[in-house]
This record gives sequence, structure tokens and C-alpha cells, in this order.
Amino acid sequence: MSRIDLHLHTTYSDGSLLPAEVLGLAQKTGVSALAITDHDIVAGIPEAIETGACLGIEVIPGVEISSRYGESELHMLGYFLDWKDAELSSRLAQLRASRHQRNPQIIQKLNELGLDLTYDEVKTLAGTESIGRPHIARVLMEKGYVQSAKEAFDRYLAQGAAAYVPRELPEPAEAIAWIRAARGIPVLAHPTWVNESAEGLYKLCDKLKSAGLGGIEVHYSTHKPQQTSEFLSLAKRLNLLVTGGSDFHGLTKPDIEVGVGRGNLKVPEKLLEPLKKAATQGL
Ligand code: AMP
Ligand code: ZN
Ligand code: FE
Ligand code: FE
Repeated sequence: MSRIDLHLHTTYSDGSLLPAEVLGLAQKTGVSALAITDHDIVAGIPEAIETGACLGIEVIPGVEISSRYGESELHMLGYFLDWKDAELSSRLAQLRASRHQRNPQIIQKLNELGLDLTYDEVKTLAGTESIGRPHIARVLMEKGYVQSAKEAFDRYLAQGAAAYVPRELPEPAEAIAWIRAARGIPVLAHPTWVNESAEGLYKLCDKLKSAGLGGIEVHYSTHKPQQTSEFLSLAKRLNLLVTGGSDFHGLTKPDIEVGVGRGNLKVPEKLLEPLKKAATQGL
């Protein structure tokens, strides 16, 4: 059976490849359907749909919205949303504006630490409105301050690191509501990032389900088999849809490949139908 990949980033946010390039890689690894899930932006979707039509790959419109969860973040994926919805556009524009508030503060901290870079340099490299820390990481790599994006995050950009600056983020329930308002299905991304025990995650998902959560990203590049089965049973217990994807970014996560993650990811094609059905019926 063929594979799908429902979590991919492009140059429209912090991925390093164009939608068409991502689709080209997807075709090589036998991906039959995929979702473009850029952070806070849906502008890459039309290009992806067009290329998908040429290559015979189904393209599901998607987005990824970061939300605040205590001291950490909780990422919400949205699938099959009406990406032309005006209200969604204005919400996403606000989220991108909060990035433009935060990023110069990060640059300032880096400058104070003696690193020579400007926000204009980051903007030029990014070439998009949805500018994130991975873009700053790439400028630091190009200037030779770090050898890898991982090093940039560990030393400077990650929470608790020397140049970390928090960003104004919505509540998880708000992110869910925004996706629902655009007739999309909200799905909790990479649940291992949520700093909770198994029972804590269950309670959280139960609460989020009342707020409109539709699914959970069970299959993910870095999940160990035991985690995958743990999240699968969580999804069953709460009657949540099961999704999966690589979270491909290109250069900033060089160990992750489209469709296969670190080599052992296989998101079954059969997961698409229930997701599609839920979106059509507004479940
Ligand atoms: P931002 O959107 O600016 O808050 O940046 C967060 C993004 O940075 C995440 O969605 C990941 O794509 C990426 N990221 C977070 N931690 C790391 C890391 N250690 N190495 C590479 N990329 C990371
Ligand atoms: Zn990202
Ligand atoms: Fe994420
Ligand atoms: Fe992502």
C-alpha cells in the first residue's frame, strides 16, 4: 500500500525547498497524497495543488499554528481547511506580525552576544512573511557561527538558550477554533513535544476534544514504535482521527526526508479517507 505525508514545510515558511521541489521528492518516495502545513501561512497551497495535479499527487490544504501551553508550545495542524477564507487570512496575518515583533528582539540578543547579523539579512534569506527561528539558524550557519541548525537552537534559539525570546501565541482552544471556523480539521501535532505524562496527555486531549480537536499525529519521524502504539491507543480511547507526517523542513532538519522521515516512517494511505470524510461532514 502506498504512503502519505501530512506534515511538510516549504519556503513559504521555514522549509528550504519550494512546494514543487517538495512534491518532486514526494513522487520519488512513492507518496500518493500529502499536506503542505506551513507555519502561519497558506500561500504555498495553490502552487502545490498545481504541481500535484501534474504529478498525480493529491494535495491537502493545511497549516500549522503554534499555541501556548504553559511554558512550552503546542502545535496545531489544520487539514482540508478553506485556505481562501478571509477570517483565516487575517488570523494568520496577525500571527506572522507577532513573528516580526519577536525576531528583531532575537537578533538584538544575538548582537549583544557578539554575533554580527541583521534582521534584513534574515528577511532576505527567508523570502517570505512567515519568518521563524530556523531562518535565523540558517543565517548563523551561513556566517559560520554554528555548524548546524541544531547547534544554533541548542546554543542560542531554543527555549532557555542565550537568545531565546518568547512569542505572543494563541491558546490551543483559539487555534482549534480558528481552524474549525475555516472548516478545517484540527490535529495535535507531534504529541511528544507536549511535556506531559501519558495520563496528562490523555486529559489534555480530552479537554481539547471538547474544544473541537479532531485528531492526533500518531505517526511522526521521531516517534519510537512504542510511542506510535501509545498514541494510537490514545486516539482510539478518545475517538480521535489518526494522522501522520514527516515534518520535513529541508536544510534545518537535514535528517528528515519527505515521506520516510528518518527512514522508518510509513503513514498508511488508508488514514486519509476518515480525515476527508470528517472534513466533508464537518465532524
Ligand atoms: P518559530 O516558529 O520561530 O517559533 O520556530 C520554531 C520552529 O523551529 C519549529 O516549528 C521547528 O520547525 C524548528 N525547530 C525547533 N527546534 C529545532 C531544533 N532543535 N533544530 C531545528 N529546528 C528546530
Ligand atoms: Zn518549522
Ligand atoms: Fe511543529
Ligand atoms: Fe511542523
